[in-house]
Amino acid sequence: MYKKETRAVHTGTQFDEGTQGTNSPVYTSTAIGYLDSGVSYPRYFNTKNQHAVAEKIATLENTGSALVFSSGMAAISSALFTFLKTGDHIVFQKGLYGGTTNWMDKELRKFGIEFTVAEGNSPNDFEKVLQKNTKMLYIESPSNPLLAITDIEAAAEFAKEHNLISAIDNTFASPANQNPADFGIDLVIHSATKYLGGHSDICAGAVAASKEHISKIRETALNLGGSLDAQTCYLLERSIKTLFVRVKQQNSNALEIAEFLSNHPAINKVFYPGLPSHKGHEIALKQMKGFGGMLSFELKNKDIVSFQKNLKLIQPAISLGGVDTIITAPTLTSHKLLSDTEKEKEGITDKLLRLSAGIENAEDLINDLQQALE
Ligand code: PLP
Repeated sequence: MYKKETRAVHTGTQFDEGTQGTNSPVYTSTAIGYLDSGVSYPRYFNTKNQHAVAEKIATLENTGSALVFSSGMAAISSALFTFLKTGDHIVFQKGLYGGTTNWMDKELRKFGIEFTVAEGNSPNDFEKVLQKNTKMLYIESPSNPLLAITDIEAAAEFAKEHNLISAIDNTFASPANQNPADFGIDLVIHSATKYLGGHSDICAGAVAASKEHISKIRETALNLGGSLDAQTCYLLERSIKTLFVRVKQQNSNALEIAEFLSNHPAINKVFYPGLPSHKGHEIALKQMKGFGGMLSFELKNKDIVSFQKNLKLIQPAISLGGVDTIITAPTLTSHKLLSDTEKEKEGITDKLLRLSAGIENAEDLINDLQQALE
């Protein structure tokens, strides 16, 4: 089998006999003949462009199969609603993307699905909140926005011991840096809007898992309807071809920026798993091939809004994982919907900024931060 970088370029490509071109054609039809070839329809998650990109994601995550969705939240809700029903219980680790926290609070409650957010992200924390009706364990590593690291292997073992389906949000790492299925996780979820898309111009999601799990998720997903159109599938397929080169540069830029900020007197704290001082560094070394392009930091005294306005190259913008370096304040964006108590519990302060390193020259990025800090 070819190595991952090669598979990122070639796996899944739909060969076009007509032109002998190197790229998958974009099959625009949503009305597709069925008499000779079986039923194919975008919302059934079985068109050629959907297959092309799903195959690529499955091979990069080392899973038997995958599905692509119209957003990361469509991927999360389709995957979780497949395995949870009224009366079931799910354990979430502490420290998750704000949208996921909001989703559990608003949607799970409505359907009578019980959930508990553990006090931390270790098997010990999960054990404390386990119930007789617990069916799933959900983790995120590195977590958004504080880059907490969960021991993925330990979490997967815990889930197996207790007969739970395990799921991880692998968005921050991307398959270039981390493959949770290798450690025994059942469902690997992505907001493909981020690193997989990589250019801040599409909204998509993905779930990678075994053929059996994906076949179950598909049955629910086609009723929930969060499928992805052919043009966006093609953009995603094209983007994944360059995933490894992009992420390599993003890993290296993030580490340089984290080191620079750690030594700057105007900075209170830096959260980056690549720093030996980071609480999860040893575990990250064990389970990640690179530490990722995401980091967070707290300003000591400066106002977060005026600091962001003083940046000339780095753009204050929401989302992450693109080739352009962007910065955001979680309390004003991704975690805005959390109550003050929730924010305090999570350790998300109003001096916190989250930076998504792009692929620019690291020195230019550091110079920009330096002048804005001054
Ligand atoms: N998971 C993480 C870690 C995210 O950062 C996001 C979005 O910011 C999502 C999931 C949700 O993805 P989407 O916005 O594509 O629905």
